[in-house]
Amino acid sequence: MTQVDHTRLFLPGPVEVRREILQAQTAWMIGHRSAEFADLFARLQDKLKRAFFTESRVYISGSSGSGLWEGAVRCGIRDERKVLHLTGGAFSERWAQISAANGKRVDCLSVPWGRAHSAEMVAEALDNKRYDAVCAVHNETSTGVTNPIRAIGEVVNQHEDTLYFVDTVSGFLGTELRVDDWGIDIALTSSQKAFALPPGIAFAAVSDRLLERARSITSRGYYFDFLTLEKSLLKNNTPATPPVALMYAADSQLDTILAEGIEARWARHRALRDATHSWARSRGFGLYAQEGYRSDTVTTIENTLGIDVSALDAFMRREAGFAMDKGYGKIKGATFRLPHMGDVTRAMLDEVLRGIDAFLAR
Ligand SMILES: *Cc1c(COP(=O)(O)O)cnc(C)c1O
Repeated sequence: MTQVDHTRLFLPGPVEVRREILQAQTAWMIGHRSAEFADLFARLQDKLKRAFFTESRVYISGSSGSGLWEGAVRCGIRDERKVLHLTGGAFSERWAQISAANGKRVDCLSVPWGRAHSAEMVAEALDNKRYDAVCAVHNETSTGVTNPIRAIGEVVNQHEDTLYFVDTVSGFLGTELRVDDWGIDIALTSSQKAFALPPGIAFAAVSDRLLERARSITSRGYYFDFLTLEKSLLKNNTPATPPVALMYAADSQLDTILAEGIEARWARHRALRDATHSWARSRGFGLYAQEGYRSDTVTTIENTLGIDVSALDAFMRREAGFAMDKGYGKIKGATFRLPHMGDVTRAMLDEVLRGIDAFLAR
């Protein structure tokens, strides 16, 4: 099999990063109060707004995506009110825990792992109680489910006082997301999933409505306070020292992405997903996620053949030079995930699938 100089990441985050993007990080540092930095920030702002399909603004955070989970609920949920979390997988459940850890009053609308939420169930929940926000996960990376974010948004937007918060950590730039058209008040994401950057930087498209809400809340914290971030953003800057090297990487990666075309990038992910599905079916594996809601960026394979996922990872590292996923949380081993996100090509996917075939044929 192919000789490679390193173990390639075939994980649903962190993903494999192209050499050019790694190299973009090695440009000389600049001070973040300089004119050069303001140029970099403004350039990124323009490209990020196109990537999120928003006219408003995109905050850049020197953190992973989890930090912005905290920022969203601290800036958006008033003390005396409640937040509704749509849960049904490891990440949606963790976001609900984080809201509770920040002292917010949380209700969960749960579906079994592997199932999607429907607009109807959200409509019913909102008819029964008033919420400051609904928190949804676009692409539940643990189960491989993509939620109908657009349809749920139509329901949420009928309730004037209810904001719509979306985690698109593993959806953004891999599957369709249109922040303004879909009535989303925050769409937050990390760098190390379909964006195909190194970890350590996170992004959030935030609406005017959410900023207005934040003004009515006193204990928003500091690091993830959107009003503080806004004040700096208006000067093409950040309140604290930003991850400049990662911003260089993002600048370069966004050029590639916009040249590919965002819709074309979504279509590439869809095609890789379809190829993964046919391979899995032909080998006798099941697909864990509910039909009709299967993710374009990650396929969670139901381990119906009962393979030893740790042995698969060891085999793939040794024989093919890939690090493999072994499943996430309570479905680890019973499932494993084949990520087809970021800059994964058909050739790379085929190489992985041939490797798994070799493992199965031992
Ligand atoms: C990976 C992931 C997170 C956590 O993001 P970090 O960048 O690790 O903080 C949150 N939500 C989803 C859906 C994810 O896939």
